[in-house]
Formats: sequence, C-alpha cells, structure tokens
Amino acid sequence: MKIEMSRFKYRVGLGFDFHPFAEGRELVLGGVKIPDIEGLSGHSDADALTHAVIDALLGAAGLNDIGCMFPDTDPSYKGISSLLLLERVYERVRDRGYSVGNVDIVVIADAPRLQPHAEAIRANIARTLHITADDVAVKATTMEGKGVIGRKEGVAVQAVALLHRAD
Ligand code: MG
Repeated sequence: MKIEMSRFKYRVGLGFDFHPFAEGRELVLGGVKIPDIEGLSGHSDADALTHAVIDALLGAAGLNDIGCMFPDTDPSYKGISSLLLLERVYERVRDRGYSVGNVDIVVIADAPRLQPHAEAIRANIARTLHITADDVAVKATTMEGKGVIGRKEGVAVQAVALLHRAD
C-alpha cells in the first residue's frame, strides 16, 4: 500500500478489539498474565488490549490493520505474544519517521478487575513503545452486568495513540 507522507506533524489513531472468553486459555492483557480467570480465544495469545493499541498505532501511521499485518491464517502467529507483534508495529511506525507521543486505553470488562494489574500493563506497553509509563493510561470500566460483556462472555478494549514526527 503506497501512502503519501502526511503534511501533519501529529497523527492520531483509534483501535478497538473484542475477544470472547474460552476454556483452557490463559488470560493475557497488555502482556500481563492475569490469574484465576479464563483466558480469551484467539489465534495469538488473544491479548485484546495490545491488539487495540496495535490498531491505534497502525491507524495513526496510515498502515494496514492488525488482521492484514498479522493474518490469523499464518501459523507463525499461533500463540505468539502480542507484545512481540506490538514491537514489530513500533518498528514500522518508527521506519515511517514517527515516534509515539502517548497512548490512552480503556478496557471494558465486567471481569477481571483490572486495577491490580494496571501498573504492570502500563510498564509493558511503555517499554515496548519507547515511552514512559506516564505516557500510557490504562483505564477500566464495566457494562454494569448488561450485554455480552456484562455477562462476562468477553473483554473489549479501545485505544487512542498519538504519533509525532521529528521534522
Ligand atoms: Mg484481537
């Protein structure tokens, strides 16, 4: 995909992901293993938080989405840590001349409780994107028992990322 370089120094991107819970899986969000709860189904480690961040970065950089970049038909991505995928996306973003400004993440889940893990998640995302933990916000909200998330059938995540170019 050929893309004209944007005349803007700053670019914003939005990411969204949802994965259903599945038996026999380990729950990983933002690269943090969360104990005592089912994991999410998916081809990789199903880290919906990291996937939302990836799509936010790809959107901001004017690149293809996560499904195009890492197709779930490719066996090499089976069970892969999504932080490794985020690292590759960071390299693509950097190759286009952009640095990450900040990332803002909202996890929408009635389970698990995210607060005990938020600091570790922020640290993982920040380290992978070469920014400080202060540049990564991880917020959590619930669906108050309503709908697919309220019934604790899955986890949704939204993320916004800001990129800036050095020139
Ligand atoms: Mg996903």
